[in-house]
Formats: sequence, structure tokens, C-alpha cells
Amino acid sequence: MDIHEYQAKEILAGYGVPVPRGGLAYSPEQAAYRAREIGGNKWVVKAQVHTGGRGKAGGVKLCGNEHEVYDAADEMFGKRLVTHQSGPEGKIVYRVYVEGAVHILKEIYLGFVLDRKTERVMVVASAAGGMEIEDIAADKPDTLIRSVVEPAVGMQAFQAREIAFGLGIPGEHVQKAVSLIMGCYKALESLDANMVEINPLVITEEGVIALDAKMTFDDNALFRHPSIAELRDKSQEDSRETRAADRGLSYVGLTGNIGCIVNGAGLAMATMDMIKLAGGEPANFLDIGGGATPDRVAKAFRLVMSDDNVQAILVNIFAGINRCDWVAEGIVQALEKNPVHVPLVVRLAGTHVEEGRRILARSGLPIIRANTLAEAAERAVQAWKNDVNLKQPKAVA
Ligand code: GDP
Ligand code: MN
Repeated sequence: MDIHEYQAKEILAGYGVPVPRGGLAYSPEQAAYRAREIGGNKWVVKAQVHTGGRGKAGGVKLCGNEHEVYDAADEMFGKRLVTHQSGPEGKIVYRVYVEGAVHILKEIYLGFVLDRKTERVMVVASAAGGMEIEDIAADKPDTLIRSVVEPAVGMQAFQAREIAFGLGIPGEHVQKAVSLIMGCYKALESLDANMVEINPLVITEEGVIALDAKMTFDDNALFRHPSIAELRDKSQEDSRETRAADRGLSYVGLTGNIGCIVNGAGLAMATMDMIKLAGGEPANFLDIGGGATPDRVAKAFRLVMSDDNVQAILVNIFAGINRCDWVAEGIVQALEKNPVHVPLVVRLAGTHVEEGRRILARSGLPIIRANTLAEAAERAVQAWKNDVNLKQPKAVA
């Protein structure tokens, strides 16, 4: 789970990491008020969205008076911020963070990630800050400092000192940098974060300060940290995936037109491959899991149908623990409540398959049946193509 910059800063501040003074705003009036509260004569207005690269996309504005703060915030609210990291749909700005501006002497990159190869937390740092880590790795790989933390003892002060010296932090600020680095590690470790990124960490006349902060958390550990779980901002997530998670279904939204309802992640992958092979594009990956009740299947159907991109549906079930008759009942239930206006292909195999097929046949619903996975994918793509052609308004000469 991702959180906002202002939330990450509040957490890190609790672990002794210095951050600029700031305040959150939900309106331009509030943003101007926050600037007055903070004081000083320069502020930065920052769009709070779950994506990086805001600076280059107009999501970070330096302001010299309250009117500019108001205008910058006014410009950002409700805007769909598209950055090179956000994907083409971008993220809508509902909150802005106002901070007292900082006079920067030097920008540094500091990241804490889980390194799968060493199975350890790795600190990655570079004195070539103000750039994305991917660009640093590509253009200035020799500036990268890597340091692996031994989990049995945690991050050691000597390691943090090595990193600080490696970054060329001036002697009088080294101690502050060491406690900043140790604080970030402590936060990552105690809160089950997957990643902490300070980009940029800046050196000022007074010391070091985290100018930007990003944290992501292990979803599977959120139950241990209710106060972190509360920070979830659903407005920043794919609404299809959020709705599915709320219903206990595993769903990944994709960009094609064929909705897939499948049991098991492996079968879902195979189904998507077969759809592509048949010349189609999957609209999603939906795994109803083992032991799916009719009610659960009906929920899955409604979820897939709520996606406007879906122009055909393929149900592919290989029932082991699952039962084909339950899946069939779920399909019938869902369709009786909400008829679908797109072609529906169903392939059932495994436990209680005969009963499942009987239920579908008896229902009299316009279901295209298939026996094998290849057949199902081909029929779904074919039916989708025919249906789209049929619905296409004829070109007027
Ligand atoms: P990102 O583009 O989403 O990563 O947003 P950042 O918070 O990293 O801001 C982008 C850039 O804006 C930073 O790299 C800084 O160069 C600049 N910036 C942000 N805050 C300040 C500030 O207080 N003072 C100055 N001078 N520049 C800032
Ligand atoms: Mn940044």
C-alpha cells in the first residue's frame, strides 16, 4: 500500500527525521491559511497524489506570497496529474500540502528497499540527487552507494556514517545525517514498510532535511499496524481493484476488452495468454479463488460488468475444490438480476461438471459454451469481434 508524502513525512518525523514545516489543505483558501500559519516568505505547494515525478508535471510550485499559494493550489485541485510515473490516466488531486520553502545547497538521493537477491534491506544512496533513481543508475552509476543491513542486528551507526561520508556530507552535519538515516531504517523496520525513499534529501546551511518522502507498506502486514492501514486513500487506487479487494476477490485491471472470470492465478495467466494468442486483449484478471459460492461468483460478475471496457466475458473454471454446479448457479443468479449485453463464453471442467452444464442449459441464457481452454479463448475473441462489428454504427457516406 502506498501513502501520501505528507503522511510519510509525519511518520518519519516521529522517528527523528527532520522535515520542513507544513500543513495539509483541501481547498485553496485553506492552502493560503496554511502558508500564513507556517510563516516565512516562500512556500512550496505540493499535490498529494500516489505518484512520483510531480515536479516536472506541475505538481510542485514554489510561491512568494499567499496569493500565489492560493493560485497554485486552485490550479492543482481536481486536476488529473499525469506524470511519467503515473500512467496515462494520471491521479486526481484532492489534497495539497503546503510547506515552508527550504534553501537548497545540495540534493541527495536516499532509498531503502528490500533486495531480493541478498534477502536484506538495502540502502541505496547517491550524491547525484534531484534525479530519479533509474536515471542515476543509468547515467551516473559510479555515484551509487549500496549498503546491506544485517537483519539480526539492524542498521548500525558505523554503516550510516559510511553512507554519510560517501555522500560527501560536510563534517558538521554528519551526525544529523546519521540520525536521519537510522530514523528511516527504524521506521521501515518497525512498520513493515517495503520501501522508504527520500528524494531529494537536501543539505542546507543548518543541516539535512527530507524534502520529499515516499513510503510503501507490505499489504500482508497491515493487520499489525492499524494506524498505517487507516492511511489508505482509495481515491488514488484503481477503483475496480479496490472494490474487488473489499469483496475478497483478487482482481487486476488491464486495458483490453475481454473480461475474465477464472479460478486460480495460474489458470488466470494461462487464460490471458490464450486470449492474446487468439487475437484478443484481456480487460482484467479476476481470480474467484477456491471454493467459490454462487454468491461470490455473482459478485465477480457484477464487478467485471461494472467495467465499461468489457465487451465480452470469458468464464474459465477448472474445478477441484470448486464446484462447477456452484459456479453455474452463480452465473445464472448474476444474469437473472443483471442481464449482460455482451457475449458470454463459459468453459467448465472438473468437479460436478455435468450438473454445472445442466444448470446453464436449463437456464435458457444465451451462453456460448466451450469444452477446452483453447476453444473458449477462440470463441470469446470471435464473439467479441462479431459483436463489436454488429454494434458499430454504419459509416455515413
Ligand atoms: P517529485 O517531483 O514528485 O519527486 O516531488 P519533489 O517533492 O521531489 O519535488 C521536486 C523538486 O522540487 C525537488 O527535487 C526540488 O528541486 C524542488 N523543491 C521541492 N521543495 C523545495 C523547496 O522547499 N525549495 C526549493 N528550492 N526547491 C524545492
Ligand atoms: Mn521527489
